[in-house]
Amino acid sequence: MKVFLGIDWGGTYIKAGIVNSSGKILKKIVYSSSQLKRRQAFTGEIKRLKDTFKKYNIKAVGIGAPGIINVERGSIYYLPNVPGWENSPLKTMLEKELKIPVFIDNDANIFALAEVRKGAGRGMSRAIFLTLGTGLGGAVIFNGQIIEGKTSASELGHVVIDVNGKKCGCGGYGCIETFTGSNHLLERYRQLKKIKTAPKEVKEIFDKAKTGKKEALIVWQEFSKYLGKFLAGMINIFNPQVIILGGGVSGAFNLFRPLLWQAIKAQAMWPQLTGLKLVKAKLKDAGIIGAALLAKDKLEADTRATNADKRKPSPVRISA
Ligand SMILES: [Zn+2]
Repeated sequence: MKVFLGIDWGGTYIKAGIVNSSGKILKKIVYSSSQLKRRQAFTGEIKRLKDTFKKYNIKAVGIGAPGIINVERGSIYYLPNVPGWENSPLKTMLEKELKIPVFIDNDANIFALAEVRKGAGRGMSRAIFLTLGTGLGGAVIFNGQIIEGKTSASELGHVVIDVNGKKCGCGGYGCIETFTGSNHLLERYRQLKKIKTAPKEVKEIFDKAKTGKKEALIVWQEFSKYLGKFLAGMINIFNPQVIILGGGVSGAFNLFRPLLWQAIKAQAMWPQLTGLKLVKAKLKDAGIIGAALLAKDKLEADTRATNADKRKPSPVRISA
């Protein structure tokens, strides 16, 4: 049986799993990411992992990494929350050790691929996926595939929604991420409540809103207004069949869904909304599944390209 090793490289944990061709996890292992921060430790552990799973016929490795990736070369430009990985040729490093193909993409792209193939967007070929957390990760699936550039494209969180907005982690100003990120929501709640320190978790604002507390409700109303306007733009561009929301902040999905839908409806071009679904992400291990499916897709595409090359007629030599 052909299987793939999918690796989900998160801020707190690195999860790895053996996944079959239809996206089912057969074995899973979880590490603390602090253990594997250094390049040496990372490649060493992945090598050990492959050896542990040697009874499986692993065809390729897929990795979802938390940062800006050169997907063409499989190298890391940088990881915002993991220092020391600037300009790392991760694909080359790992292929040398593992002796099998390795493919890397941005984690949001990987999550989106898993949700469209196996989760909340199953059966859909056009989807917008967002991870609502500290930041705003995004991905676009078109014709069933991740929209790809040379680097990890679809940095949706860094679309400007307010030209006079505050500074964003990307270096720009007024990005949608500065309105939907969990830190912004906590700070906005603190301002509205006129309290000294903000609550620690967004869940608190969610719980307060459920009991009808005014300031908490305002936070979610504003959140939905900005996110809805932003999504309307994405809908007008990509005409998705489904919008899938994941990440910690999506815990409040049932609460903000009607507000968000209202904001989308008020802004998007109405024909684009026909049949559009707005759903919450479904998969627990989207990172592992998506990374493995990426490896499968890329390996198949590489094989097709090689075979097409072989079929080309060899040039005819004409001797004088
Ligand atoms: Zn930004």
